[in-house]
Amino acid sequence: MKALPLRGEHLQAFRKALLWWYSVHARDLPWRRTRDPYKIWVSEIMLQQTRVASMTRVYRAFIAIYPTVPALALAGEDEILARWSGLGYYKRARKLHEAARLIMDSHHGKMPQTYLDLLKLPGVGKYTAGAVASIAFGEPVAVVDGNVERVIMRLMGATTVNAQMRKRIDVMAQRLLAPEEAGTFNQAMMELGAMLCHPRQPACIQCPVREFCRTQGEHPTVVRPRTNKVNIAYQVLRRSKKNPPQVLLLRRPTDAAQMSGMWELPLADPVQMHRQHPVWRTMHTITHTQYMVTVYDGGVAEEELQSEGREICWANGIALQDLPLTGVTRKILMHLQMMPRPLDGTADPSNSHLLPAPVAHGPQPSPYGQRRNVANVDAGEE
Ligand code: SF4
Repeated sequence: MKALPLRGEHLQAFRKALLWWYSVHARDLPWRRTRDPYKIWVSEIMLQQTRVASMTRVYRAFIAIYPTVPALALAGEDEILARWSGLGYYKRARKLHEAARLIMDSHHGKMPQTYLDLLKLPGVGKYTAGAVASIAFGEPVAVVDGNVERVIMRLMGATTVNAQMRKRIDVMAQRLLAPEEAGTFNQAMMELGAMLCHPRQPACIQCPVREFCRTQGEHPTVVRPRTNKVNIAYQVLRRSKKNPPQVLLLRRPTDAAQMSGMWELPLADPVQMHRQHPVWRTMHTITHTQYMVTVYDGGVAEEELQSEGREICWANGIALQDLPLTGVTRKILMHLQMMPRPLDGTADPSNSHLLPAPVAHGPQPSPYGQRRNVANVDAGEE
């Protein structure tokens, strides 16, 4: 398709059109109201592999509790993981914490101010370093996330991504960048990819840079990976003397490959449970796996669980908020009103689908199969 060349006066026109569109249509997001490099850094780390709708509440609460690098560095890891609960991919939180401590030790608590210095922080890659350096400090470095990659590929008329193409995309991203307004321009490119240049059915008719685009919506459809469906069951063991009752949780091993050290409900053995009515059924989607979750009240005795050698705790109400819970455990406990919901009423917007009521009876999958599913659940959340 014929498109204006992205050089000279046309390049200037491209930048102007995109920046104008962004000034009018940008979403009002909390991290866009600040130039504080720490807050921008936190937001960029949270946004990796998490949708804006899912992370905004967690971001606000996180920044309220840890408003500065020292506040984060001084906090305990368990506490940070608890505040991260719902976002998944907990390695990001651990790296963020590690980096905050390094900033305290090596930079007197001040965020590094250049792309190259930011790159030296644990958990900070090219994308995050570029985003913080350009948005907070105005450094003219282009950022390329999945959205920007898609926009540039379409502008160039490219259809396949490989290592060579990625290099070309990086070069093009840097060429397109408006150096005087690097941070705003980078955000505008990301916003265009998120809001108009969708993976499927891009809204080209509304696109501010359509005349520069070689594909204008004519592109191969992106094939979505197949979603796997997995059944899994949990049990809720209560101690009813307290109000609200305490619930029993197991700690994942500290050397677990995913979500190490986090707390979760014990898995239920469907063979033992087949006579019981579940108290809840729900779906929990993690990356490309959809978990059909069944929750039972009661189950295996505490002594039996201890024999598996896992650390156990009983907790209730507010105390649960301070524990690093896995996402599905948190969701179940909120639904059963065993822990408070966030004040804004949202629980886990990315992952909350209540299934209609019918309760299944009869043969259930092997408990050993269920146990193997634990690793699957966690693989996506880490
Ligand atoms: S014209 Fe369409 S395909 Fe091209 S950049 Fe704009 S939204 Fe994307």
